[in-house]
Amino acid sequence: MPELPEVQTIVNTLRPRILGRRIESVNLLRPDMLMPAGFDLANHLSHRKIADVSRRGKRIVFTLDSQNCFYIHLGMTGRLTVEPTQAELLKHTHLVLQFHNFHIRLRDPRRFGGIFWLGKQSPDEGIGPEPLTIQPVQLAARLARISRAIKNALLDQRLIAGLGNIYVDESLFAAGVHPLRAANKLSNEEIRRLTRAIKLTLRQAIRHRGSTLRDYVDAEGGAGAFQKLHRVYDRAGEPCQVCQSSIKRIVLASRSTCFCPQCQPSRP
Ligand SMILES: [Zn+2]
Repeated sequence: MPELPEVQTIVNTLRPRILGRRIESVNLLRPDMLMPAGFDLANHLSHRKIADVSRRGKRIVFTLDSQNCFYIHLGMTGRLTVEPTQAELLKHTHLVLQFHNFHIRLRDPRRFGGIFWLGKQSPDEGIGPEPLTIQPVQLAARLARISRAIKNALLDQRLIAGLGNIYVDESLFAAGVHPLRAANKLSNEEIRRLTRAIKLTLRQAIRHRGSTLRDYVDAEGGAGAFQKLHRVYDRAGEPCQVCQSSIKRIVLASRSTCFCPQCQPSRP
């Protein structure tokens, strides 16, 4: 699933192509991908220019010259790419935005994503602060009421927006925090380390254009390279790069979690 670094890379590759460009027409092939249901998207998008495209959490937010906004969420398998107008329309393409001489297409075989019309509403609705700018004291306050495992807490988009399985596992490893530790039992020092680890991990992943495991590509169709630098994610049974212990894999809330039992002790 695309997480913050992948979504940021898509935004970065999309921006120079569409900023200031006019949407000529809209083809919504799967109306059930649109929220609110039955909304006349084509009417509100056609002949509008793109004033901005940005990221909020895992949301790709489009601002039109009418100042109305909508966002696209890529779910598990979504791709948002720039395509030549004449390129064959592949199966599972749900939305086509026609620009003067190219298309933006949303393709999502598993359809966990969607297109969300916001109008003048804020794209912040329902999600927590950005991990790239969050301060340790802010994170501490949000974790204080949560007795769940820190891994699950960080996956909760209402608590902090943009992290998923890959970057939570990598950040917890970098911070030396065991994924099963209760979120409200972390010390201030551990929260400081964790905040720093999250920011460093995400910045490094953005520099490497995200992680491509299966589906993810940027708006130009390019793959990411950060998967080569994963230290625990999807590395169960391999030696830890720091201490040589075998990386462990457990299942937590039906998600796979990888960590080093030596570098991430289960007790503080
Ligand atoms: Zn280790």
